[in-house]
Formats: sequence, C-alpha cells, structure tokens
Amino acid sequence: MSNTHFRTCHLCETMCGIAVEYEGDQILSIKGDVYDVLSRGNICPKATGLQDVHTDPDRLRKPIKKINGEWLEISWKDAFQEVGSRLAEIQRRDGMNAVASYEGRSTAHNLGCLLMVDPLRRFMGTENIYTASTVDQQPHNFVWYFMLGHQFMATIPNLDRTDYYLMLGTNPKVTNGAQMATGANTYKKLQAIRKRGGKVLLIDPRRNETAPYCDEHHFIKPATDALLLIGLIKTVFAKGLATPGRLKNHITGWEKIEPAISEFDLEEIANATGIGAADIERIAIEFASAKSAICYGRTGLSMQEFGGLCNWLMQVLNVVTGNMDEPGGMMFPKTAIDTFSVLESVKGNYGRYHSRVSGRPEFADELPVSVLAEEIMTPGKGQIKGLIAIAGNPALAMPNGKLLEEALDQLEFMVSIDPYLNETSRHADIILPAVGPFEKSHYDLFYHTYDTINWAKYSPALFKPEAPGYTDYEIIAEVLRQVVVKRASNPLKKLFAQSLGWLLLKTITPELILDLGLRFGPYGKGLNPFKEGLSLKKLKENPHGVFISKLQRSLPEGLFTKDKKLHLAPEILLSDLPRLKQRWLSGEPEKPSEFDLLIVSRNTNRTLGWMHNSLRLVKGKETCTLLIHPDDASRRKIIDNTYVTVSSVTGSIEVLVKISDVMMPGVVSMPHLWGHTRPGTRLSVANAHPGASMNDITNEKVMDELTGNAVVNGVPVKVEASKDARVGDTTPAHENETIEEFIA
Ligand code: SF4
Repeated sequence: MSNTHFRTCHLCETMCGIAVEYEGDQILSIKGDVYDVLSRGNICPKATGLQDVHTDPDRLRKPIKKINGEWLEISWKDAFQEVGSRLAEIQRRDGMNAVASYEGRSTAHNLGCLLMVDPLRRFMGTENIYTASTVDQQPHNFVWYFMLGHQFMATIPNLDRTDYYLMLGTNPKVTNGAQMATGANTYKKLQAIRKRGGKVLLIDPRRNETAPYCDEHHFIKPATDALLLIGLIKTVFAKGLATPGRLKNHITGWEKIEPAISEFDLEEIANATGIGAADIERIAIEFASAKSAICYGRTGLSMQEFGGLCNWLMQVLNVVTGNMDEPGGMMFPKTAIDTFSVLESVKGNYGRYHSRVSGRPEFADELPVSVLAEEIMTPGKGQIKGLIAIAGNPALAMPNGKLLEEALDQLEFMVSIDPYLNETSRHADIILPAVGPFEKSHYDLFYHTYDTINWAKYSPALFKPEAPGYTDYEIIAEVLRQVVVKRASNPLKKLFAQSLGWLLLKTITPELILDLGLRFGPYGKGLNPFKEGLSLKKLKENPHGVFISKLQRSLPEGLFTKDKKLHLAPEILLSDLPRLKQRWLSGEPEKPSEFDLLIVSRNTNRTLGWMHNSLRLVKGKETCTLLIHPDDASRRKIIDNTYVTVSSVTGSIEVLVKISDVMMPGVVSMPHLWGHTRPGTRLSVANAHPGASMNDITNEKVMDELTGNAVVNGVPVKVEASKDARVGDTTPAHENETIEEFIA
C-alpha cells in the first residue's frame, strides 16, 4: 500500500512543495504538493529527477579511495582517519592556508552543509575559502552588504502587488524564480500583473522564454546593462520624478547620485546598449510614474564584467523612485530562523586580506574562485597543497575549468564530499558520499532569506539509509574533528578537540539547532509550552508548511548598517563608474578582433548541472546547443543543426548550432555546466548526453574588478563551421516545456 510524503524540493531556491508517493523503499511518483503554502502544487520537471538520484546506481554509497589510479571502496573509519591525517599534516607543515575549501552551489541547498559552513571556516583556519558564489552571486551580496549592511539581506521583488515589472538578464519562465518568486511558475505571476493592468518588460540579449509573458522585450548588448540603468536613473532625476518616499530620512548619499552619473550621455548610452534613447526615457518615466514598480536582475547582470555596478544601480533605481521596502516594490522577508542576527560573522567584510598571487581582496571571507587555480599552481609560501571540495563541480562551473583540472592534479591531497565521481571529484584522493536526498531531513536555512512570503517548512527524512550512512553534517563534522585532533600540538588540545567533536556529532544535531532557531526566532514560542509559536514540533505537525504573513515593511529598523541608514552611494561603488565609462564610452572605436561575437549563458528548465545523471531529465534531443542569429550564421556559412567550433582566447569547443532570431545579432548563447566528456567519471547517463563545457572557453583572468565575480556573459568568441560538419538532430529540442508538457 502506498503512502505520501511531503517535503520541499531542495534543488533550487524556488522551494516548491512536492508530494512523494512511495511504497516500502520505492518511490512511485513525485508531484507538486497542492497544499504547500508557498507553491500550491507548482513544480518544474527537475523535481521528478530526484527519484533518479535516489535510485541511481552511479551514486556513491560508500567512501572510495584512488589507489594506483583505481577507485576502491574503503571503510568510513579508514577514510575519515586518512582525510584527517593528510590535511592536518599539510597544515602543520605548510601553514593553515595550505589547505583550501571549495563549497559548491548545492551547499546552499543542503541543511547539513550549511550548518557546517561556519565551523568549517573556523576550525580549518584558512583564508583560502572559495565558493560557487563568486561565479554567479557575489555582486548581489556585495551590494547588499555595502548598501544595507548585510550581504544576505536580499531584496525581494513583491510581484504579487506590483504594477510595473522591469527585468534584466533573467528568465523566470525557465528558472522558475530565483529570488523573485519562490514557489515555481513565475510566469503565472507575470500574467497576473498584466491582468490587473500592470506592465512587464524584459531586457535581455536573447528573446528568451519569458518574453511571451511580457509587454515588451528589448535586446541589449551584453555587459552594458549598467549603462542602461544609468540612463533610466538620469531620466528619473531629469524629469523631476525622483522621490525617496517613506525612507526620506533614512537614506544617505542621495545627493551624490546625480553628479556621479552626470558625465554619462543618454545618446551614447543608447548607442552602446542598442536600446534607443526615446525608449530609455519612456521606460524611466513609466517606471517612476507607476503606482509601484520593481527593477530586478539576475545572473545576466551578476555574471558579467560590471556585475557590482549593475546590482547597485538596479537598487538605486528602486530607491530613487520610492519603491524600496514598499508593497509592490522591493521588500524583505523576515525569516522564521533569524540567521542574520545569530551569526554576526556572516554579515560580510571586505579587503581584510588578499589572495597571494594576484592580490584580489576577500569579500565575506571568500576569495574569487577564479584565482583558485593560480593559488594551487604558483609555488611559494602559502601555496595551496590540500583541498576539501564540498558538493560542487568547479571543473565545469568555473571559468577555464580545464586549467583548474590541471591545478587539482598538482594537489598533494584532495577530498571530495560528494555523492558522485564527477569531473571534479575524479581528481580527489578520497570521496566521501553523503546519504541520498530522501535519506536526510531538510530545511531551507539559506533560501528562506529569498522568501516571497513569510513562512516555514521542515522536511523529515523519508527513508533510512543503508548503514552506516552519514549525512553531510556528520561527514563534515567528523572530518573537522579528525583534522583538529591530528593537528593539535599537545594532549590538552587533543582532548578539547575530541570533546568538541563528540558534542557536535552526538548532541548538537541539525534538528536541535532548527528547534532552537525556530523557538527563539521572531515567530517562536521560546520555551513556554503555553505560548503559540513556532518550534520544530509545530513544523512537523504541518507538513505543507506554516504560513506566517505577506511581506511587511521593515526599514529602517531592519537595516544592518551601524547608522540604520540605507547607503545609496557607497564610495566603493561610485569609484567603479569610471571603469564603466572607459569600457563603453571612451569614444575610441572598438579594436577589430577575430573574436567578433559575444557569448552569454542560458538555463534550461529540465536540468541543473548536478542533475545530468537523471535520464528522464536529459533524454531526448540535445539541449546543449549554441543559438546564433540568422545574419551571423549566414556570414559564417553556418548551417542549422550542424556542429560548430566556438573559440576564445582560452580554448575551443564543438557544439551543435541552432539558428534563431531570438538572438540579438552579434551575440550567441549556450547553456553552462555541460561537457561530460572527461574520462574517469562514473556518470553513465551524463556521459551519454555530454554537451560541451562553456567554461572551457571562459577566461579566469577576466572578472568583475569590483566584486571578483567571474565573467561568463559577454565573453568574446569566434564561431566557425566545423571542418567535418556533422549534422545534429533536426527536430526541435525539448527545451523548456512546461511541467504538463514534460509529463505528457
Ligand atoms: S522550480 Fe523545480 S527545481 Fe526548483 S524547487 Fe521547484 S520543482 Fe524544484
């Protein structure tokens, strides 16, 4: 007889509720949970792939060690001891910085990993901390830190109440939200805005899948979004439409904005961006005159040369039109577990130390992942010799992945905490796999900070793992315990480390932390048994989640700046404006180059990089394709559905081409995180649907100089018909169907 288990899909920040029908230890189906307080039954195809991860024979269940090039299973005890000894030995001999850690994107979706991020940083004591954030997220965090005082004080578009929605570099129809609509099927929210008389606009170098749900779409030249935003802000001031609204007495730097952008000319902006001056003026006036409005941008803005400026200017536009912390504008959730206040250490900091080789400043205790390879490969004091890689695949995710792979091979010791033998973990000495997705509990400790409503939900483990079976929390805790004990210089310190490890592992469970966090959070019941409020028990009694409220105004009290003011014009952001002007408006003509097209990345709704071993998600027509405008294709004698060579200063790849006028002329696009062509992985499904890695042609040396974020969008490339032009599939790809189409 079957049962139904309710939980949150942890694959992305959209946090959809899923209903998992199961019998014994078999999953029969995964559907949207219609009673989920956030998503109301909406899901995307990716959630169904969780079933494949659960049963995947390629998923590791036991630790494996590379011995003479062969992977052999070893016991957990031996694995932990060896990892501890090797890492401790490196740190004792070469200093704490000689061991680095890399935390992948899925760390943020994993309760155990998240709870261990802070202890990992404290106990490893290294400045060499790298995460996937510096590939796609850092500009957001950087701007929130300098403007609002906390790197995770996310501005959330209040879509349900807005009248005017201006999107840049984003595709919610496919990504299902990402900070804008936790709960999937964002396009329905866009439809609702238009239905109630509002307006929706999209600015993107590709007329992407969201465009049909918008009133207007405008092409924009990659990496010029900051200019467009300046054009909009200039117009708002020039037309006398700027207003701080309710926050009038709580903003600093207002007077600096107009002078700072005065040298940017609207006609020049129009020429550089490709959007006419009349359109820029009209959009600015409409935006500022709307009852409520939101300017929002995502990875198209953050994964580019001016990511920091883009994210700042976007917030400036919201503030100077009175749309910050207002219903229908940008708002802030109040999470049930107040991670912001509890962990002062995660608030953010900047420039306290720099990377050893190229002197890049840290932000929030992280160095740009683009410098990881040089930090491993450059000899000298502080050279990285050991690495702990957690839940990530930087070989495909970070610029110039091939160089990183060369670097990984030079490490003295590497441990991967990962369920797969993938393109990155194949370089490890030992892989420690955590239990499967349904064998551990889940709470979106981090992504509740992106909430579009105030709510909370806990997902218990559904199945018991095969013994012994460790969660990510337990694995990282034990690795830390082993390292600290083995690194200790005297018996007293060893004893302390042993006790601490015992405490972490035996008494301080994730559930205990969650219960305390909920009880002492803003909606908690504390320790009073008679008080109404949240506790873990309450969440367990409500498997579809607990709705608390719509988003409420929260400024200025909610600000984390010392003076409780919103800092509209931080010096560090103002000082980056000349770089933007010099890049696009210097008056000098662009030098001719063989790399005469710009490439941008795109997402597909079936896959995430770490879900490519799910057959139901990757089967069918090839989706890792290069899109090119018909004019660009014809000039290069490129034929639709053939393989082309895409080259940059970094390298070249072969990819199937699709000719389409959805692309802006001069711009091409392909999905990232593909390229399962490396030997020695254990990914039987992904290897059969390999695609090509966009990060084999991105350049680790080019980054947003302000935030250190990698540049994936706007990379100059050359596209040529391959010499032996193979023909690809000529039928349309499955790309980006709805969940209903996917199931059909
Ligand atoms: S949008 Fe898809 S992947 Fe993201 S949480 Fe919802 S179902 Fe999961």
